[in-house]
Amino acid sequence: MPPTSSPLLGCIADDFTGATDLASMLVRQGMRCVQLIGVPQPGAAVPEADAIIVALKSRTVAAGEAVRDSLAALTWLQRAGCHQFFFKYCSTFDSTEAGNIGPVADALVAALDCGFALACPAFPANGRSVFQGHLFVGQTLLNESGMEHHPLTPMTDANLVRVLSRQTQANVGLVPYATVAQGPVAIRKAMTGLKEQGRRYAIVDAVSDQHLFDIGAAAAGHALITGGSGIAIGLPENFRKAGLLQSAADADALPQVGGHAAVLAGSCSRATLFQIGTAREHVPTLELDPLATPDAAALAGQALAWAADKLGDKPVVIAASAPPDKVAALQAKLGREAAGSLVEETLAAIAEGLVAAGVRRLVVAGGETSGAVVNRLGIERLRIGGEIDSGVPWTFAEGRGVPLLLALKSGNFGGRDFFLRAFTGTAA
Ligand code: ADP
Repeated sequence: MPPTSSPLLGCIADDFTGATDLASMLVRQGMRCVQLIGVPQPGAAVPEADAIIVALKSRTVAAGEAVRDSLAALTWLQRAGCHQFFFKYCSTFDSTEAGNIGPVADALVAALDCGFALACPAFPANGRSVFQGHLFVGQTLLNESGMEHHPLTPMTDANLVRVLSRQTQANVGLVPYATVAQGPVAIRKAMTGLKEQGRRYAIVDAVSDQHLFDIGAAAAGHALITGGSGIAIGLPENFRKAGLLQSAADADALPQVGGHAAVLAGSCSRATLFQIGTAREHVPTLELDPLATPDAAALAGQALAWAADKLGDKPVVIAASAPPDKVAALQAKLGREAAGSLVEETLAAIAEGLVAAGVRRLVVAGGETSGAVVNRLGIERLRIGGEIDSGVPWTFAEGRGVPLLLALKSGNFGGRDFFLRAFTGTAA
């Protein structure tokens, strides 16, 4: 069969950084990927890509809203011509008793009329493995890993058959390790058997990348796959074997973009604080003081004036990030939400000003911060390039007047020299 120009894999991700993580995995395996921010308009052009990832914010919203958004994404991806669909959730199966993994999966299975989907959040390279249906984080059961204290999605049960069963009326089965270890034929047979017994889902064990490759091969004919980004590792090879995917050594190619470099940090995670500390020794670094100036426009004005004569090939770093005592002080003064909004608004305004001043390569640290920046810059789609560090690729914002490379980093990701290395690698 000749290579097709329509996308092969249509993915629906329940959060923004999870979508990028999945896209990175697929790019590494030779698929050209574009990430869409939210569900595109019905008539929006289909990007030239092998996989399209629609990034939703559906992990913790009401189940009805998550279902509605996910179905709208599915409809768009079906119209775009995708052959297979992927529902991406967190590798720690982040969800509440009510969902949203079960309700969204139920809706997608019904819409695709496929009757069955595997569920596998395993990502052994990142310490997430599933054994006898139980999810481990490193050597620890999920419910003893700290995830039992998560503020939004506390995970108090590591038995995923039970967890998923509480989120759906359907029957949930298990493909255990002993079967998975026998390879793709045995896995496929087990899944077919479970479907024939009336199970709508199978939690599938996986403790190594080889298992993920074998599960991927076994799911070649499945309309829907659900899981973390790990399980996507085996899917590109199915398309290659079917003659649908060309070998793409340059799947991570992005347009060359010249222009000034900058880093905006709004994450207060330890990793980001270390990264700012390292950057401070090498490049101009400004730490904002929202406590002294609790006014987004004034703070942004100060930062842009500071940056004006420093912009160039080497990055400038502008950070609102602060240690817990300073964060607590601002929250005490303004309230938790208002403090977060003030900082997000400030950094979004600075991003806009920096781009107007000629910045074309921008790193943003922080998940919510990245969302605020992307919204302010009116970015709707990102082509995924090579990784700077695991899970953080350079991306190219498509469909804009001025070219722009962005690296959007979840707070805890990246090594200490991330802000420097981002601009010395080949990708940018
Ligand atoms: P992460 O990926 O580390 O969770 P986010 O950007 O998602 O980072 O979240 C960090 C939150 O902290 C944002 O809402 C940001 O506006 C807020 N924040 C950043 N700096 C400060 C500060 N100095 N005081 C209070 N809140 C802050």
